Amino acid sequence: MGLTIVNRSGWGARPPRNPGEVEYVAWPARTEFIVHYTDGPTTQTPRAVQDYHMDERGWNDIGYNFLVRDDGTAYEGRGWLIRGAHASDHNITGIGCAYIGRNNPTERAKQSIRALYDEACAQAGHLLAMRGHSHVGDTDCPGATLLAWVESGMPVDDRRTMPDSERLV
Ligand SMILES: [Zn+2]
Repeated sequence: MGLTIVNRSGWGARPPRNPGEVEYVAWPARTEFIVHYTDGPTTQTPRAVQDYHMDERGWNDIGYNFLVRDDGTAYEGRGWLIRGAHASDHNITGIGCAYIGRNNPTERAKQSIRALYDEACAQAGHLLAMRGHSHVGDTDCPGATLLAWVESGMPVDDRRTMPDSERLV
């Protein structure tokens, strides 16, 4: 089963507030993959997360590089190589992937997070460290369930791969 990523136009993303502040990161600088949770309802839309980050937090765009929900759908946030706003001092080194929900991710959601991790390593050409947000910051994020999963090496029942047609460039 392949992974599908809904791109920004697919979920109605707003453009960054200030395009001049969009900062690109090269693959060699990406050394860690940081798992988050949104700590909200599983029905939350990426657009609602983006609106919150831009309008309430005052950020340039949605903070995360990717988001994943319980049915396994993955969403492009800032994407692979744009500096995110998800973990202080780790936004250049870290690709931030948020689970949409609180503390009870489905197997499908975990499979998609793992597929994004695998794809990041493939595109980087090196293994990225597996991290939960709380490994690099003082936070409860990504919750006990996801933290334990990350610490056990992100195991999944079925490794999913990304077909070439789904690769974002
Ligand atoms: Zn977090």
